[in-house]
Amino acid sequence: MSFLDFIEFNFISIIDIVLVAILMYQLYKLVRGTVAINIFIGLTTIYLLWKLVSAIHMELLSEILGQFIGVGVLILVIVFQQELRKFLIMIGKARLIKNNGFFKFNIGDEQEALDIETLCKSCQDFSKNKTGALIVITHADDLAFFSESGVEINAKITIPLLKSIFYKNSPLHDGAVIVRDNKVIAARCVLPVTNNTDFPSHLGMRHRAAAGISEDTDAVVIIVSEQSGEISFAKEGNLHNQCSIEKLEKLLRFEADKLNA
Ligand code: ATP
Ligand code: MG
Repeated sequence: MSFLDFIEFNFISIIDIVLVAILMYQLYKLVRGTVAINIFIGLTTIYLLWKLVSAIHMELLSEILGQFIGVGVLILVIVFQQELRKFLIMIGKARLIKNNGFFKFNIGDEQEALDIETLCKSCQDFSKNKTGALIVITHADDLAFFSESGVEINAKITIPLLKSIFYKNSPLHDGAVIVRDNKVIAARCVLPVTNNTDFPSHLGMRHRAAAGISEDTDAVVIIVSEQSGEISFAKEGNLHNQCSIEKLEKLLRFEADKLNA
């Protein structure tokens, strides 16, 4: 092996190690806070045990564990079905953001800017009257799969429209509203709920659904609690609780500004 080969070997090895470390960290980030973390630790332990028993030539045990590791890929796909889905979405999303450059709810050529004032006023009213609401604002992901689960609306956001959707006796009030290009695309949509085991136990399914969609996609979500009238905002799986109208407006403006930057 020449000196150059040695350098190349080292250089490639370093890149290899760095890439594996990044991959492991991304995997850890996906399973962190979910029950899958225990499975992740379990599988890693079995793998390390297998390496250990192989190294000290414990033939029988190494054979059994080896068989187990052999079908490991299959086990991984079955057990981490949800996480693999998120991982692939994450990769797809990175490509999407690279292609589009920015989110969709900015003042584009044909796109209308999000009417933050109307949204805030509606939420203020919902909060005062304790009307439950769940409003998803899309960015690059169009969330077509989720809007198809609901009733198509395709109308410009207005206070009367939002009120009539979330009014308690309305047939459309159950589920989420999806907003894109300043339009209510659909109502009564069913969202995926978060699997985060650290999620506050006093919060119910509406809040779990908001956290769920915001961790799976790049959408942001406004939640008004029917129980307390409290306004929350979800982004990247995290909930900002007890938002005042001013805070909500600020959070929405921050999102809109990011697009126009
Ligand atoms: P609230 O504080 O308003 O009671 P919560 O977080 O306690 O909210 P729940 O009481 O469990 O939530 O559910 C309230 C409403 O949330 C349901 O009636 C339904 O309209 C909506 N909801 C629940 N789960 C989902 C879901 N997966 N997708 C969309 N909407 C949902
Ligand atoms: Mg509730």
